Amino acid sequence: MKKILFFLLAITIVSCKNSEKKADETTTPEVKIYQLVGGSILVKKLEVFSQDTTYTGQSKQFTDAYYVISHPKGNLMWDAGLPEQLVMPEPYDEPSGVYRIQRPDSLVNQLKSIGFKVDDFQYFAMSHSHFDHTGHANYMKNATWIVQENEYNSVLGDSLAQKDASVASLTKVKKINGDYDVFGDGTVIIKYTPGHTVGHQALYVEVSGLEKPVLLTGDLYHFEENRTNKGVPSFNYDVKQTLESMVKFEAFAKEKNAEVIIQHSPKDFEKLEKLLKK
Ligand SMILES: [Zn+2]
Repeated sequence: MKKILFFLLAITIVSCKNSEKKADETTTPEVKIYQLVGGSILVKKLEVFSQDTTYTGQSKQFTDAYYVISHPKGNLMWDAGLPEQLVMPEPYDEPSGVYRIQRPDSLVNQLKSIGFKVDDFQYFAMSHSHFDHTGHANYMKNATWIVQENEYNSVLGDSLAQKDASVASLTKVKKINGDYDVFGDGTVIIKYTPGHTVGHQALYVEVSGLEKPVLLTGDLYHFEENRTNKGVPSFNYDVKQTLESMVKFEAFAKEKNAEVIIQHSPKDFEKLEKLLKK
């Protein structure tokens, strides 16, 4: 009798464990997002953000956000702000006369403020490889850099006479071609949106506890009117591709009922901050 009881007890324990396991598998993973300010950019000649004279004579204050996404399977850093040389008391007027730039603090200090360290990142990705997004990329050398193959070739390709020093130390590379599901469960997806650069990408994140998923634009748009007017900056890699990416991006945003966050918009920075504090 004792033996039978023990046997039954053992079966009960095993079946309990199995059901716990099943419950774990069906639970949505806890995904968090943090935003940090990688720079302040005063655009003194806003006309560079159009193909025509729409913004001639205007100036605009941009922010330069970067993001930390924490997922049970690892942490991802999205974008890398301005270079740390720009952490200085006064803003810097760069030689083209278009931008006045400054970075508020170093990566290490900024990560500390949200309880992270440089070595906490398994994954690193950027919307694209312009200098206001690659700033502290060199710190991410222990993470796997997820990058579109064409974008990689445009900055570090074998045939290039001069390679981009800001990303040269990133040697753990995952080259992708198109959309990419970072953790394999649909919660964090890189969206291929070429045009601003050859391999520009946006980021979709299903943040736990938020009513809507978040869709980070990268530099597909730089400010609100830019999105409404479908304005294409004069320095974009390909105008037609940019416009096609905008159509694809808007359809995806609608399908997912996503909260679109323009990464250079101070208003959108505040909007996301409020949503995250709720
Ligand atoms: Zn930018």
